[in-house]
Amino acid sequence: MPLYNTHQIRTQEIMPTTRYSYLPQQFSDPSKIFEAMKNVVLNGDYTLGAAVTEFEERFAKLIGVRHALGVGSGTDALKLSLKAAGIGPGDQVITAANTFVSTVGAIYEVGAEAVLVDCDQSFCIDCNLLEGALTEKTRAIIPVHLTGNVTDMPNLMKFAERHDLIVIEDCCQAILSSMEGKTSGTWGLTGAFSLHPLKNLNVWGDGGVITTDDDDMADRIKLLRNNGVQGRDSVEILGYNSRLDTIQAVVANWLLGQTEEITEQRIQNAAYYDAEFSSLQEIQIPRRPSNVRQVYHIYMVFAEDRDSLYDHCVKNGVEAKIHYEVPLYLQKGLAFLGHGPGDFPETDRHARSVITFPVDQHLNLSELEFVVSTVKSYYARNRGVGK
Ligand SMILES: *Cc1c(COP(=O)(O)O)cnc(C)c1O
Repeated sequence: MPLYNTHQIRTQEIMPTTRYSYLPQQFSDPSKIFEAMKNVVLNGDYTLGAAVTEFEERFAKLIGVRHALGVGSGTDALKLSLKAAGIGPGDQVITAANTFVSTVGAIYEVGAEAVLVDCDQSFCIDCNLLEGALTEKTRAIIPVHLTGNVTDMPNLMKFAERHDLIVIEDCCQAILSSMEGKTSGTWGLTGAFSLHPLKNLNVWGDGGVITTDDDDMADRIKLLRNNGVQGRDSVEILGYNSRLDTIQAVVANWLLGQTEEITEQRIQNAAYYDAEFSSLQEIQIPRRPSNVRQVYHIYMVFAEDRDSLYDHCVKNGVEAKIHYEVPLYLQKGLAFLGHGPGDFPETDRHARSVITFPVDQHLNLSELEFVVSTVKSYYARNRGVGK
């Protein structure tokens, strides 16, 4: 007697699902990557190898800048940018209250102080609030192009020029996004990108890139990422150990040519959601200005009765997310900033009402449809419940 009845298993209906992580699909055939890695291993070319140089040249071309420099992570891309720009103790750096922790972490790593500014519904810094954050110590601004949307850079750059401030763009979620046709990572003195597995252009571990048109900055960053060492023996400045691994550059080179396609597919998927959700009064889609190319690192909307909708989605096989339930400025590790609830009302509103749905390039139409029908079925049954 078998322990189970195969007939029963086969006839059981498979519940549809929409998953969040697409990594197993993306790297389902890694043979070409392994082949290229084999060359790295056979040549012993592990640190700042040929694949890193190739990647840097191609990345610079992709973004449209003179220099792209591979570093250890997106966090390090921010840190080395600040350090190379001469930001340190006694300096204040303005950034977004709703950002991912490492933007603020990088500022403190170089010994400077972060001054947080609220966002608007674009999920990026509200440029109207910059003036109020300015002090005599302000030296730089890090606009964060969160979710793949773009900060109002024409206005931010005007403000920065007026007050002689350095701009370092946090592009970790925003590769190939643009405003008024100008690509993110080309506005500021530098742009900081992440190659983390969850980012749009991703490798098999940590990695980051700094873009810049400034030759002196590029030279300093090359030193800083390599312990300040020039050639073999000459220590020019005190630096860090923060190089992009050759092994990771191999993965990045394999993927780099697909970046435009990946971006376009995410934009298409987001457009599908936008069209479907626009008929729901309970879902508010953020403004989609026509001068912005938003690249949808994450697809985030505002939802009524958010917590119950989220539970409903997860229970029914839609792997929704919340970015984030507790805003950064209220986290324990940042208590020293001295902020309290209500300091950043728009960020707070987002924490209560945002929900994220999978939007990556590997989703198929039935998975997208399943997300939409799951959300619609929730509100059809619970209309007005959250009021
Ligand atoms: C991911 C991310 C970072 C940090 O990148 P790492 O490569 O993980 O260090 C910084 N800022 C933002 C907005 C991010 O999303």
